[in-house]
Amino acid sequence: MGKRWTIDEIKKYVENNSESKLLTTEYKGFSQKLLIECSCGNTFEKTFKKFKSNHQRKCDVCQPPKESR
Ligand SMILES: [Zn+2]
Repeated sequence: MGKRWTIDEIKKYVENNSESKLLTTEYKGFSQKLLIECSCGNTFEKTFKKFKSNHQRKCDVCQPPKESR
């Protein structure tokens, strides 16, 4: 992860790559949880790393977490 993202870039990424919307207005780093509004209206928290790399781009209702058994 060499690239340093700005909050504007992340906002654009979220809007271009999902139907969700970024509500957080300040980005402090990869470990920070971002507040995101799902297309269904729910809000959820996700790190940008998970959003981007793990394709977790919706709330837990629209995209339930995978059970690891
Ligand atoms: Zn949802």
